[in-house]
Formats: sequence, C-alpha cells, structure tokens
Amino acid sequence: MRILVIGSGGREHALVWKLSQSAAVEKIYATPGNPGMARCAECVSAGDGSPKAFLAVAESVNADLTVVGPEAPLVAGVVDTFRAAGKAVIGPAADNARLEGSKIFAKDFFRRYKIPTAAFASVDNHEDARKALSRFRYPVVIKADGLAAGKGVIIASDRAEADRAVDALGPRLVIEEFLEGEEVSFIALCDGRDVLPFAPTQDHKRVNDGDTGPNTGGMGAYCDSRILTEAETERILDTIIRPTVEATGFTGFLYAGLMMTADGAKTLEFNVRLGDPETQPLMHRMTTDFAPVLMAAARGELGRHRLDWRRGASVCVVLASGGYPEGYTTGVAIQGVDQAEATGATVFHAGTRMGVQGLETAGGRVLGVTAGGEDLRSAIERAYEAVGKIEFRGMHYRSDIGKKGLRRYEVRAPGARG
Ligand code: AMP
Repeated sequence: MRILVIGSGGREHALVWKLSQSAAVEKIYATPGNPGMARCAECVSAGDGSPKAFLAVAESVNADLTVVGPEAPLVAGVVDTFRAAGKAVIGPAADNARLEGSKIFAKDFFRRYKIPTAAFASVDNHEDARKALSRFRYPVVIKADGLAAGKGVIIASDRAEADRAVDALGPRLVIEEFLEGEEVSFIALCDGRDVLPFAPTQDHKRVNDGDTGPNTGGMGAYCDSRILTEAETERILDTIIRPTVEATGFTGFLYAGLMMTADGAKTLEFNVRLGDPETQPLMHRMTTDFAPVLMAAARGELGRHRLDWRRGASVCVVLASGGYPEGYTTGVAIQGVDQAEATGATVFHAGTRMGVQGLETAGGRVLGVTAGGEDLRSAIERAYEAVGKIEFRGMHYRSDIGKKGLRRYEVRAPGARG
C-alpha cells in the first residue's frame, strides 16, 4: 500500500511514524510534511494547498490511500474532490466538515438529534447577543461561529466581560452555559456506518501549568484507558457518536470534545479530524497495525476491525516557541533531539525546518516529546526525562502534563497509584 498523509504538524508526524511500522505499507508520502516526517516518508510540496493540488500530489505518487490531517482542507472539500476522482481517502465530505467549521451549525445539529450538550443560544448580531446574555448565569461561554484554531472561545465571568467578548468575537456567535467537569477527547474512526473508538485522551489547552493563561492549540496530552470506564465509553458511543454517524453518514475521524459533568458526558464541540496533540500519545500507544484499518474505513468495511492499546499510558509534552500562543520568532536552532530519543522517547516534529544551522524552529508548537510507561506516573517521568535533553532559545512547556489524570485516579480509587 502507498499512503499519502496531508499536513505538516505533530499529528501528521505521529501518523506517518505509526504507518511506517506497518508490514502492509510499501511507501509513505507526506505533503507538505516536515523534517521529522522526512525520516520515514518522502515529503512532497503541496502547491497552493487547494483540494486540486492535493489530488495532483496523490495522483503523481500513485497513492492507494490518502489521510487528511488538518481541518482546513476538509472544510475546503478535499474529500469530495478525491472521491469524484475515484481516489480512496480518509476524512469527511465538506457538508459534514461543517460540524467543525461552524459552531452554530454544530449546536443546531446537537439540538436536532438530541445529542447531549450545554444549553445555548445562537445569534448573528450584537443586539440579539445582548438579549440572549440576560438569560444566562455567569460564568458564561461565548464562541465565535467559524474556524478559530482554538482561539475563538471566551469564558466571561461577568456581564462586562461578556459584552467585550461579544464585541471581540461577533457578530455570529454561540452563547452557552458553562459546564463543570473533566474534559475528555473522544475520537472514533467512522466509515459512514460503523465506528471504531480510540482510547480516551486528555488535552491541555491552556499555555501555563494549572490550566492558566490563554488557550493554545494544545500543550500536551496523555492517553490512558482509565480516563473513561467501559460504561462511560458505551454511553458516549450510544448517545453521541452513533447518532451522529447515523444522521450524517460521517466518514473519517469524528472527535468529540466532551465535558464529563455530574449529568454525564456533554459535547463541547465536534472536530472532524484527529486532535493534535492527542494523536501523538494515541499512535504511540496503539499496538494494532493501523494501515489495514484505515483502508477498511475508506472502503466502508470497518465492521470486523478493532484497535488494541499497549498496557499503561503514553504522554506527550509539547515544546513551544518563546511567546507562543502570541507572537514568536522562528529560525531558532534546536539541540538535543537525538539525546531525547536515546532515553526511549519519540520526538514528533510540529513546527520545525532544516536551516543552515541544522534543525530549527518554524512554528509556535515545535516538538511533541512522547513516551510510554507501565502506568501514567512512569510515562510522565519518562516524557519529562526526554524533555530535559532538548533545548532551544525561548523554549517553554508545561511541567504538569498528565497530572490531572493522576489526581482523577486518586479520587476514584483512593490509595491507588496513577
Ligand atoms: P471548544 O472550541 O468549543 O472546544 O472550546 C474551547 C475550550 O473552551 C474547551 O476545550 C473548554 O475548555 C472550554 N469550554 C468550551 N465550552 C465550554 C462550556 N460550555 N463550559 C465550560 N468550558 C467550556
């Protein structure tokens, strides 16, 4: 099998890394790829990044299957373009990609299909926003309608903050009830009819320790089957994932961002692709040969497949450029990746490039240092041991990735080690 992966981040590096271990794979291509992916795939220019340009790449390398990483090409219709040309592809059609591309569309969908979610109002002008605000308690959550790379959500603690958020994010908005609980990333591979759930993961969106500071694309994640009980997983499949696939014929990765409230799982958002950084600990922990599973999903034959996971946990710590998620410089030399990998960790590249001085930074999130362990505590220790080997000017990272999981297990099973 010849597989093409679209994208250039840590998520795509993790996919390419996992697929390169498959006996069923002859060659992997990445477009546009990055220097990390270049170690196990051939990187090909993505041209102007349009659906047609990606199709031209897939045809030129004679790909049997293409996996789409990021949301932008999905929303632009890359899957429809591939299908029209008879090319196998993993991802949703553009009409289903609206579940991520528009928060208003998603909330209306949740309401129509009775998918558990926060109480909300959707508005398209400032006056209606102000009227709607008077019906909510504080804190209240205000979300911009369109794609915003994790930056279009403001949690306002009083009316003055809410009014400012409406000015900053409007006019098309979702205003919704603030939910309390643990967040879980629940991802399922879907073939239009059947669904194959991944192990649960938890992301860390805020830039600083203790979930403080502004939101980012994700500063780290861990994968541990104990995040959800089997009963919780079954309920999420029955009330959220399967009804969505039945209603839409969804294909590709359906990612439900969930809040585990006292009332059960509620859907904060849908993404229509794999999460980043979640994909890094997921690929790291998956023991199943993933390539045949993906091919089965593209053919609508997922029914007889299952996914298995290594015992214990995997943890990914993101190393970010100084200043991220605000302005940051690039072109800073990176040292120590080989030493980090010598500890047994896997270093996925997110924003890197090759410069005159060797490997250098090229984005806000630069590397995802990923390690496994027989339990969450040891996976955390191993990931941070590897992090300690890497250096670049301005580098920053969270030092508490996975701690929420340790706390959660200690509450659930007093005295148990994470
Ligand atoms: P979203 O893009 O909708 O996932 O929102 C981004 C982040 O804002 C989520 O990961 C949550 O941390 C937070 N958030 C969103 N909606 C709510 C809500 N209704 N209650 C509490 N926190 C929320």
